[in-house]
Amino acid sequence: MKVPSLDLKRQYKSIQEEINKAVLEVLASQSFVLGPFVESFEHSMVKFCHSKHAIGVSSGTDAILLALMACGVKNGDEVITTPFTFFATAGSIARLGAVPVFVDIDRFTYNIDVNKIAPAINKRTKAILPVHLYGQCAEMDAILDIARANKLMVIEDAAQAIGSIYKGQNAGTIGNIGCFSFYPSKNLGGYGDGGLVTTSSSELAEFIKILRVHGSKPKYYHSHIGINGRLDAIQAAILSVKLKYLNGWSEKRRLIASYYSEHLKGLPIRLPKIESYNIHIFHQYVIATSHRDELMKYLGQQGIETVIYYPLSLHLQKCFEHLGYKKGDFPESEKASNETLALPIFPEITQKEQDYVIDHINNFFSRL
Ligand SMILES: *Cc1c(COP(=O)(O)O)cnc(C)c1O
Repeated sequence: MKVPSLDLKRQYKSIQEEINKAVLEVLASQSFVLGPFVESFEHSMVKFCHSKHAIGVSSGTDAILLALMACGVKNGDEVITTPFTFFATAGSIARLGAVPVFVDIDRFTYNIDVNKIAPAINKRTKAILPVHLYGQCAEMDAILDIARANKLMVIEDAAQAIGSIYKGQNAGTIGNIGCFSFYPSKNLGGYGDGGLVTTSSSELAEFIKILRVHGSKPKYYHSHIGINGRLDAIQAAILSVKLKYLNGWSEKRRLIASYYSEHLKGLPIRLPKIESYNIHIFHQYVIATSHRDELMKYLGQQGIETVIYYPLSLHLQKCFEHLGYKKGDFPESEKASNETLALPIFPEITQKEQDYVIDHINNFFSRL
């Protein structure tokens, strides 16, 4: 049996007619960049997230870049973030000439360790950029307290956390700005690149809209140096169709996750920990074991695809050598990069496939 880590074809089959119709409408309109399809999707996202503003952009990476630019982050400024995340989080900071300042993660949630943020703050610190990793929100109350006390902006990297809830609030609407990604493999994935920025500030929303079109308003008059950060209409039309199904898909992911946790408990592995005040959307279901590499190889031999998110902590990446970090600086992040493994999870995975994964994980540990 083959179990893929993700199979998008199954999802497409289930909504094919609706998607095809939506794409054909865009083709008939010949309006491809921003415009009515994008505005309508932005409006739906405002309702979905209970945010005041939603601005469709070209990718999750550009969402973070635009958020940082809107907060005035520039050359020499420092932004505090986690080293255990997708590259774009820190890459966007560095891209602006600012300095990503890493803070280690919590061993059990893999999110930024809020107790380690305050010591990393200095005069150059401009913002905190927590990531809601794997679909579970970071400890936002503590982060907001620290930010208020130090007059810092909070930008949430909610690329993996669309629909995730923290103490009743939607991921991406808790800090000053939220950033989402519609990369195809994300929980709400487009058929290409796409992203979104949310904010409750009308000033920030207006500024981000200007920065999204090369910093111009009116057209061809540039008050700022922005980027081409526009969302296109085909993506918006597809995302509008898929958004209606998102809560149902998230619920399925939660059921799949609890089925894994129920049947893997008792093994010498660390299962995902869900904080009591969080509603997790399980973008990934990640376990941790000191036998990670052997387990991954064994499962691969059985036809089960697993993935490591992420194999090298960002403070150890070659491109960040100049930041001066070394091995041992962030032990929890390094441990996570050596021990974590994402199991197959997507709303359409069958119980038979899940049982096959569970059986083989059990087999692996019984042979140790
Ligand atoms: C996917 C992702 C991004 C980047 O989004 P893109 O749409 O691929 O540019 C940023 N941060 C995190 C945590 C992500 O998972």
